[in-house]
Amino acid sequence: MIKFGPSGNDDLFYEQGFSSTKDVFKWLNDFGLDLYEYSFGRGILLKDETAIEFANNAKQNNIQISVHAPYFINLANPDNDAIEKSFNYISNSLDKLILMQGEKCVVHIGSCMKMAREDALRNVTNNLKRFMELFDEKYCNKKIYLCPETMGKFQQIGTYKEIVDLCTMHDSLIPTFDFGHINCILQGNLDKENYKRIIEYSFEKLGEFRTRKMHIHFSKIEFSSKGEIRHLTLDDTEFGPEFEPLATLLQDYKIDNATIISESKNIMAQDAKKLKDIFYKIK
Ligand SMILES: [Zn+2]
Repeated sequence: MIKFGPSGNDDLFYEQGFSSTKDVFKWLNDFGLDLYEYSFGRGILLKDETAIEFANNAKQNNIQISVHAPYFINLANPDNDAIEKSFNYISNSLDKLILMQGEKCVVHIGSCMKMAREDALRNVTNNLKRFMELFDEKYCNKKIYLCPETMGKFQQIGTYKEIVDLCTMHDSLIPTFDFGHINCILQGNLDKENYKRIIEYSFEKLGEFRTRKMHIHFSKIEFSSKGEIRHLTLDDTEFGPEFEPLATLLQDYKIDNATIISESKNIMAQDAKKLKDIFYKIK
């Protein structure tokens, strides 16, 4: 069954008097959702005992947890010390994910910096290969996945083809399709045909199991000719993408094991519920 949930805490959660993420799992269950993404975007400050408490609360309330690794990671960086730091950020995120009994860790894989794209992509490929060797040593008996994300700025590594191609190197890599980002790169042209192309590319390269288990970020995002500017809400009428064509395709292709995270600004849980309602209305 597809799971739906927010990245982070909705304004409504705070307006209703809650302040601690420990309480969000019951709140989400009451709200009709079953997924929660915890972001380490600006650093990994979560204590182990709190992570374990999250795991217990999430389990009691049937919420699956995913995490987002820090934004500082850049596997394209030619500097070895910087790569070691990136590896540590990813490992530390995976360690917390395991404590939270989650399954997927989202990661921004890299940025071109001042390099030609092919050089940056070669660095990312080589460094990700090295990281996955460490992964095999440290996490081989864990049921966790590293999920490189499609990015919204042209300077970043992460077109849907780059991400899917990178994922072919190891069975524990699953794409995070951020369709808002993909729409920025396509400059607003993410229509049903393009959704279909992406899904079919994933089936072709990664096969059924991993495609049906894809991680999705969905939000409308404002963009310019340089790509992503800022996250909006589903109510926005100027920028896309639309969820309906994707929802139809997820059903047509029986992608029934996917996890869908709303990254709407401020109202991510309310919008996750909207996505879920759209999905089941079409069904
Ligand atoms: Zn992200």
